[in-house]
Amino acid sequence: MSQKFPDARTSLEADTDFHFLLAVILSAQTTDKAVNLLTPRLFVRYPAPEDLAAASLEEVMPLLRSIGLYRNKSKYIIACAADIVAKFDGQVPQTRKELMQLSGVGRKTADVVLAECFNIPAIAVDTHVTRVSKRLRIVPQTADVLTIEKTLMKKLPEDLWIKAHHCMIFWGRYQCMARKPLCVECPLLLICAEGKTRVQ
Ligand code: SF4
Repeated sequence: MSQKFPDARTSLEADTDFHFLLAVILSAQTTDKAVNLLTPRLFVRYPAPEDLAAASLEEVMPLLRSIGLYRNKSKYIIACAADIVAKFDGQVPQTRKELMQLSGVGRKTADVVLAECFNIPAIAVDTHVTRVSKRLRIVPQTADVLTIEKTLMKKLPEDLWIKAHHCMIFWGRYQCMARKPLCVECPLLLICAEGKTRVQ
């Protein structure tokens, strides 16, 4: 995977850890591209957690209107900023446990932030990582997100976790897409049970 996508990395754009955290929260069920289009205005308006924590829902919602679930996401990011100010002295915390205490932050978001902002090994399991893991039979078809994460962490050396996460996302986006995976030309076809059934 890394040979095919040597430059695989996050496509979310942000200038600070706090802004990156906001971008990850906003990216749920929408594309990174859509998030990148709206975040510059959001970031300029609210440079620090204290600024966003003091904002009203009416001020924030119009800035997020172009993405899905914008009402809830507006609530989450204001509450998240308030949590950072109240519980962590205005700094984005650097452990999964603490990150998951923030409003709008689940395990996947926490893992992405740990890896991208603090270079702490983590494997965030999204829809692409899930699909690719199952198609390659790295995990059982019934595996849940936590099982997938733990299996990948067990099978891969820790120093490859962040890279593997990016590669699997690119693999899912551009090679092993949900509807029309490119099995015939896939470099992994020989070791992919799913691919073999698809090209028969
Ligand atoms: Fe995905 Fe097909 Fe490649 Fe298997 S052979 S990893 S299903 S694209």
